[in-house]
Amino acid sequence: MKIVMLGPPGAGKGTYASRLTVKLGVPHISTGDMVRDEIKKQTELGRRIKEYSDRGALVPDEIIIKLLAERLKKPDCDGGFILDGFPRTIRQAEALEKIAKIDLVINLNVPDEIIITRLSNRLICRECGAIYNLLTLKPKRDRICDKCGGPLYQREDDRPEVIKERLDVYRRQTEPLIEYYERKGLLRNVSCNDLMTPPEVMIERIIEIIEEKKRSS
Ligand code: ADP
Repeated sequence: MKIVMLGPPGAGKGTYASRLTVKLGVPHISTGDMVRDEIKKQTELGRRIKEYSDRGALVPDEIIIKLLAERLKKPDCDGGFILDGFPRTIRQAEALEKIAKIDLVINLNVPDEIIITRLSNRLICRECGAIYNLLTLKPKRDRICDKCGGPLYQREDDRPEVIKERLDVYRRQTEPLIEYYERKGLLRNVSCNDLMTPPEVMIERIIEIIEEKKRSS
């Protein structure tokens, strides 16, 4: 199944997608991780991308569409995938339509207060990209990744002043996708109104939606 995870920054797209990938046996494709990898490699493209990403702006459509299109050509995507962080603009959604037929769009609804608290407490593994949260998903050892032992850090764009900009960008550029996919009959909503709701509860709800979709198609 080809699934898109939609929702504001900090809604949990990456956290849920990284667990769903194991349960569903399809790759988790995060354009945010791809962007951070490219920056880490310090390529020319990485340097260009960093200018946008550090200030919470979107990377230009043509760059991100090209990166994504190349990733989706790999054979592991033939049986389906979970897209996290793409599409983020109508133009990206239209480009995606030409590359793959999406079966389902999961839209995560989360209030701004929860997002801001979550992102300010988020830590990421520098080595493997695993996501932690000092309030809800603590690592076992202080600032060390449970999975690979790598160091945990706060993302440049998870600083409070950048979070606000990312939420504005989301409202302006990404939110119109909700209606776009609703019109196509692909959208299913999942809400999280409590900061302490464990990821497992959310994942169960998402899996129910996926199962329902499988039955009906
Ligand atoms: P978030 O936690 O905000 O969902 P991501 O990890 O998905 O963040 O993305 C981090 C940054 O990478 C974004 O702020 C943006 O600069 C860039 N990025 C990721 N995906 C896209 C995309 N589809 N289009 C444009 N820029 C993107």
